[in-house]
Amino acid sequence: MKHEYPNLQVVDHPLIKHKLTLLRNEETNTEQFRRLVREVSQMLAYEVTRDLPTENVTIRTPITEIAAPMISGKQQCLVSILRAGNGMLDGMLELLPAARVGHIGLYRDPATLEPIEYYFKVPDDIADRVVIVVDPMLATGNSAAAAVGRLKDCGVTSPKLVCLIAAPEGVRCMLERHPDVTVTVAALDQRLDEHGYIVPGLGDAGDRIFGTR
Ligand code: URA
Repeated sequence: MKHEYPNLQVVDHPLIKHKLTLLRNEETNTEQFRRLVREVSQMLAYEVTRDLPTENVTIRTPITEIAAPMISGKQQCLVSILRAGNGMLDGMLELLPAARVGHIGLYRDPATLEPIEYYFKVPDDIADRVVIVVDPMLATGNSAAAAVGRLKDCGVTSPKLVCLIAAPEGVRCMLERHPDVTVTVAALDQRLDEHGYIVPGLGDAGDRIFGTR
């Protein structure tokens, strides 16, 4: 998909498009929705790890000895922005089973509309890891940008953000405040509505993952 944003990767794959359409459909129930989020997240994990370095190790196949590639360099840490980010963890951890997991909880102050942190727990060695932040919906971008700011305070460099759907407003916010962040999404939608929901979007991702509405 063509767009104007540097550092934004919209993953163009028929399986992702198909599953995203199922996710958008209001008739998709909680069980189906949760499974689809896991599946799409797994495919996004495949894309966001495309540039992980490899180095050759020597192994023997049943036929001969070869030098063959294995992932090398930094270990990974996934960071979930609560609560909807948790729905993306399982699928990504299937591809990255050794990854550590951090959690960041933020709510929006009703008076100032600024994100306020209520929970922050990440591994002590997070600065030495490749950090992948997950949040299904990049709407205004305020929470994700605040979360990335907190991670940078811990020494994290150039984290990657993975979302199911982004609004242009959210992409602009993130890339203006953190131009070193790469954003990987399944779709770039049209806009935000007056309530901050992504249009056409899929509704409230947290409610649909956890069945709370
Ligand atoms: N958060 C959601 O869950 N959905 C949106 O459309 C925007 C923010």
